[in-house]
Amino acid sequence: MTPATAPPALPGWRHLYSGKVRDLYVDESDDSRVLVVASDRISAYDHVLATPIPDKGSILTALTLWWLERLDVPNHLLSTDVPAAVAGRAMVCRRLEMVPVECVARGYLTGSGLADYRATGAVCGVELPPGLDDGSRLEAPIFTPATKAALGEHDENVTFAVVASQVGAELAERLRRLTLDVYATAEALARDRGVIVADTKLEFGFDPDGVLTLGDEVLTPDSSRFWPADQWRPGRAQPSFDKQYVRDWLTSPASGWDRASDVPPPPLPDDVVERTRARYVEAYERITGRRWR
Ligand code: ATP
Ligand code: MG
Repeated sequence: MTPATAPPALPGWRHLYSGKVRDLYVDESDDSRVLVVASDRISAYDHVLATPIPDKGSILTALTLWWLERLDVPNHLLSTDVPAAVAGRAMVCRRLEMVPVECVARGYLTGSGLADYRATGAVCGVELPPGLDDGSRLEAPIFTPATKAALGEHDENVTFAVVASQVGAELAERLRRLTLDVYATAEALARDRGVIVADTKLEFGFDPDGVLTLGDEVLTPDSSRFWPADQWRPGRAQPSFDKQYVRDWLTSPASGWDRASDVPPPPLPDDVVERTRARYVEAYERITGRRWR
């Protein structure tokens, strides 16, 4: 983590935890309230990069708030009245006891889902018909959970049965239902705006009253794959509103970086930063129909 993006000290809030992108604080006078702060940090290939993307934290927070207003499930948001130092990129939330499952819904096949399918004909144990390609639309969206990995490690795709054995069959079923419901709502809303939500990852937790509640960021380019609908063409990698430029540059000869090595990735050149920022802005503008500042 570079000093420029280290978690700021915030009066009244005690720093609890920093993930790759977000910093979590607890209210010093009410430990049922957390502050979820989205930094401008960007991660790729399981590394946090040394170069931040300006406005990324604010864009992702604004998008999360936009979705939370439109989704019909209990969520953790309490208020957007946050310390000035993190204005626009933080949310005051109900503190949840997180369920340790990455709840992924996929309506299209790509990424680790495609890799699973090519190896086994199924994704997380969900059998799919033969003949699907990179970017294929699935007949019906599927729930493809993953277990949360420690910092620097990959999340691991698991079957529904594994989730059921970890958290109980009833909770596993509720997670699947909620995840697919949120995906269906989001997919339809975004499609109207020319954006395909290929897949998305949600996190749920229990609030102090025991209500299963949607937490974390929601339907952002970091947690989802968004594709411009007018350029969708199965059979290749789809253009997407995310860190595609970063990944492409990091794996190109220009970066001089060896992904297989233990060496951290080099700083990003300005044009990659600017184009990446523009992709995040475009995702926000297309989906919400609002101008980004
Ligand atoms: P990764 O970098 O793989 O995403 P991470 O999920 O640990 O790792 P972040 O996403 O940066 O890192 O951090 C957000 C953290 O806050 C997550 O651990 C998430 O589970 C947690 N979280 C989100 N909402 C709440 C909440 N309302 N109460 C408690 N924890 C929450
Ligand atoms: Mg996370």
